This record gives sequence, structure tokens and C-alpha cells, in this order.
Amino acid sequence: MADPAPEALGATPEALLERLDQPLCITLAGADPRRTRVLVTLLHGNEPSGFIALHRWLREGKRPATHVVCLIASVAAAQLAPRFSHRTVPGARDLNRCFRPPFDIDPPGHLARRLLEVIGSVAPEAVVDVHNTSGAGPSFAVSISADERHRTLASLFTRRLVHTDLRLGALMEISEHLVPTVTIECGGRLDDAAHTVAWAGIDHFFTRDELWADIPDPGAIEVMHNPVRLELTEACTLAYDRAPRTDVPLTLRADIEHLNFGITPAGTHLGWVRGAGLRDLFVARNTAHTCVLEDLLCLVGGELRTRRPLKLFMITTHPGIARSDCLFYAVQDDGRELVPRRTEPEDAV
Ligand SMILES: [Zn+2]
Repeated sequence: MADPAPEALGATPEALLERLDQPLCITLAGADPRRTRVLVTLLHGNEPSGFIALHRWLREGKRPATHVVCLIASVAAAQLAPRFSHRTVPGARDLNRCFRPPFDIDPPGHLARRLLEVIGSVAPEAVVDVHNTSGAGPSFAVSISADERHRTLASLFTRRLVHTDLRLGALMEISEHLVPTVTIECGGRLDDAAHTVAWAGIDHFFTRDELWADIPDPGAIEVMHNPVRLELTEACTLAYDRAPRTDVPLTLRADIEHLNFGITPAGTHLGWVRGAGLRDLFVARNTAHTCVLEDLLCLVGGELRTRRPLKLFMITTHPGIARSDCLFYAVQDDGRELVPRRTEPEDAV
């Protein structure tokens, strides 16, 4: 679809989605045709903020500063009823784990390769990939680099950047060899505020004349390095409540989501544990695969507490997500990666 007229897009994002029978590529002619920017969204069918915001932006009939290519990926998953509820088509691989070989093994692999071919063919100055988080919470960017360009891209949308050395086959990993790329997590997928974050960021990304002219001060973006995932063991069943439950080993505070992103002091009460030890319930390893569980949490008289000052984020209050993905991500209070205390410089002898 090239330079669609606003009325050709349907009155609502849902109307546009229903009309599609495959992933959609929209190209927009900009004031400077020598440069191109790429927006990717709906890699996950249940994360609609980027698509909703793009529809709104296109309906306003604005003109971008450069050529723009918009790639709307998991259309089939997003269309499954109820709309925007399926991350993937049932049984399919997660598309955002498919951006590395082998590509030839299934439809998501083919689609990932096709998206990479399109991005490679237009040689963009930057790629932004817009997502939503599974729980509520503030926006942040994710990238494999925290250099000036990646901080600048992040700053178009948010003030927080997660810098990760993990390689999972996500689209943002093309930063390594192709083009500066960031993932933007706009906040909760059903949250109007997240759609607004997406819209404002897309508007900056499309209309800023010189993308790299306005590099944010080092202090303007909060960078978090290599967050540790707190995962649950197979044996761990859990509930969220205001008091300890007797039917599960782990009860988490019902308001645990409030700890998203601020500094969580040492000794903060997260919940209650019954008849189990930390290692029976949790797994937490850093990028060196070192266990940092006892550096993260402790048990005090059946209460689960933080061991040291931390920054926690992507805290989920969905038991299913906690079990299948993780309970939260954590870094030290100054944004550094968690390491076992005995290897920290201040403890060295
Ligand atoms: Zn996503």
C-alpha cells in the first residue's frame, strides 16, 4: 500500500485489520526521498498500540520528513477472535524469536526473512519496533546497544532503556550488523496511555528532520543493563492476595505491580512463602549463568523480601505469565547487572 489516502484506511484500526489478508507493508513518500525510516509493529498479534497509533497518524494525513516503510506483521494472529488477543497463531513459533537462521523451517521463519529482506533493501537510517508489555506499567525501550543512536531512538518514545546482551533471535538484534534498531514497549496492551506513547513516538520518528541531531543527555535516559529474570520452578504454584494463602506455596502481594521501576529498598515485602525454600520456587541467573537468587531475595519468617536495593520492572500479576515467562526483571538500584556479592569490587580482598 503506497501513500494511502486517510479515508482508504477505514474509520478504525479494527476496520483496517479486518480488510487485510496478509502482512501489510505501507510506504510513505517523505520530504527527503533519499533517506528511509522503518516502523515495524504487530510482531505480536496481542500488542496493538503501534498499529492503533499508526492508523491514527495516517488518518491525520501528515507528511513524514523522510521516506517511511511501515511493516505490520502478525495480521493473522491479531485477527483471531477476540481481536488482538493472540500473540501468535496457535502452535506457531514466536515471530520475535525468528530473526536468525534457520528461516526455512516454518511460516514465521519465512515471514521473518521476508521482513529482513525488505528492511535490507531500503537501507533505512533506523528501525523502530513497537510492542506492548503483558502487564500494566510504564513504557521502556529495549536494545542490544546503549550508544548515542540507540538512546536517541529510545528517547523519541520513553525515558528508560533496557540494554541487553541476550541474543534470542529478536528483530532488534539486527543493530549488530545492519541498522540502529530499538524495541519499544509502550506499556499495557489495553491501556489508552500506551497507545498515546506509541502515537507521540511515531510522530517524532516520522517527522523529525534530522534523527541524530538531538542526542539526549546521558542523564536523560535511564539505562538498565542486563536485567535478571526471576523465573518460577515447575513446582511453584502461586496466587496474588493481601494475606498468605494456604493452598499454594507462594503468595505475592496483590499490589506488587506498584513496585514497577522505582527503587525498591532492601527488605521490601513482596509476599509470603509456605513450606518451601527460595531455590524450590525460583530461578534467577545473570548473563554469565551465575545464580543470583540469594542476592535478589531472602526469606524472613515466611515473608519474601528483597535482599538489596533493586530496580524491578515488567512485574506481572498474571499467574500464567509468571509461570510461563517470568515474574519480573531486576537490576541493581543504579541500573547495573546483578552479580553475586562475593564478586563485587567492594567485597574483593
Ligand atoms: Zn511483543
